[in-house]
Amino acid sequence: MLAVFDVDGVVADVRHRLHHLHGRRSWGRFFEEAHADTLLPEGAALVAELARQHDIAWLTGRPEWLRRTTQEWLAGHGLPADELHLRPHGDYRPAPRYKLDVLRRLAPRGIAAVVDDDDEVIQAALAAGYPAVLADWVPRTAELRRAQDRDGRT
Ligand SMILES: [Mg+2]
Repeated sequence: MLAVFDVDGVVADVRHRLHHLHGRRSWGRFFEEAHADTLLPEGAALVAELARQHDIAWLTGRPEWLRRTTQEWLAGHGLPADELHLRPHGDYRPAPRYKLDVLRRLAPRGIAAVVDDDDEVIQAALAAGYPAVLADWVPRTAELRRAQDRDGRT
């Protein structure tokens, strides 16, 4: 069985780079600073707990070009980094649609839990029959909500 975790807002604290999404948004800059995210201890604790019984798969809206940065960041913070699903190049669908598509592909392996900080992703996962937990330890700002729900970028 898999425990499927989002990255940003769950284990990675993106608040230091949200200013790039104010006004004229710079997605390049926003993502380029991902290596400097700090670890969110609540998320890391939940990963450790679920990793005792399940394989950990990451499901993030980060673009595919951040694969190496993300893998290195996860490993550097002592998190499992074997399985990582990133948003394919040019895929700007809203996060719930993109993530549900990936969850459907993973479903034959069994999904024990989906953990995400986007309540719309959680609602979509629950509606599709997957156990899902809202990561609510970091308040989502208007910038991030807009980015996820409307621009389909994270
Ligand atoms: Mg997130």
